[in-house]
Formats: sequence, structure tokens, C-alpha cells
Amino acid sequence: MSEKHYFSGYPENIQQQVSNLIKQGRLKEYLLKKYPTPHQISSDKALFNFANQLKQQYLKKTPAINKVIYKKQKDLVQNALGTHTFTSKNHGGKLKSAHEIAIAAQLKTAPEALLKVLVVHELAHFKEKDHNRAFYNLCEHMEPTYHQLELDLRLFIYLCEHEGDLYSQ
Ligand SMILES: [Zn+2]
Repeated sequence: MSEKHYFSGYPENIQQQVSNLIKQGRLKEYLLKKYPTPHQISSDKALFNFANQLKQQYLKKTPAINKVIYKKQKDLVQNALGTHTFTSKNHGGKLKSAHEIAIAAQLKTAPEALLKVLVVHELAHFKEKDHNRAFYNLCEHMEPTYHQLELDLRLFIYLCEHEGDLYSQ
């Protein structure tokens, strides 16, 4: 899959920076410098607790979460994040159950900040189905640096799918 698939919707200058980072072979170095260690949230139970804590803190009034699991997923960017945009877009037409969160298994060995961004994204969909302004406001409420982290998450996914695991030698 080309870079476009991962980073379309971002401003031209950001896409250019991303493209340079990849071309110069510095993507792994960039991510490792920012995120030297992976998280320790490796079981579904730990993942549930992690998500539920955020939910209790920020989304008290939404229904309880039934299940949070790691799951093998194809095309993580398309399925999990959709097209990053500040205007209203729907989420590929697929409506997920509001009470379950599936996190792509690739995120089992990820920096905690990037796991968090995906959990925050999924939690925000409890209240807002679409990727509209209200949705991103909610994401930023839960994680003030959401936008930077979502970009880093896309870089992480790109790396996993093209150059292998971030933390393997
Ligand atoms: Zn989404």
C-alpha cells in the first residue's frame, strides 16, 4: 500500500515531511527516539482495564463497555482510523457495536501513547459516529495531543506493514 493510503487528508507539507522520513529510511529512528519502550498492556484483560479507566474518566454517561480485545485486523488504517479529516466523513459505512472495542493485534507491541490514541478514537465513537468536529473535539478532550499522536500512530502502522516491528532488532 502506498503512502497515500496512510496519510491522505493531511496537509501537503505534512505529507512531504512524512515522505522524506520514509525515503531517507529514518522512520524507525524517528519513532524509537520519541517512544523508546513498548507498553506492557499485553492481555485483553489489561486492555479492557486501560480502556475502561479512560471511559470512566471522560465518558461516564455512555453505556458500559462490554468487551475490549486485541484482534487480528486487515488494513488497520482503513478500518480503525478511516480518513483523517476535520470535516464530516463517515466511517466506511460500517457501524460497530457501541459497547465493544477491537484493537488491532499489531498494537500489542506499540508505544503506550499510540495504543492510547486508538483507544481514545474508539471511545469517542461511542458518542460520535462520524469523523466530524465534535468527534475530534472529544478525542482532544481525552488526549490533548490527539492529532500529533494519530499521525504518529499512522507512521507506526506504516512501519509495521513495510519495515517490520518497531522494537525488534
Ligand atoms: Zn473512526
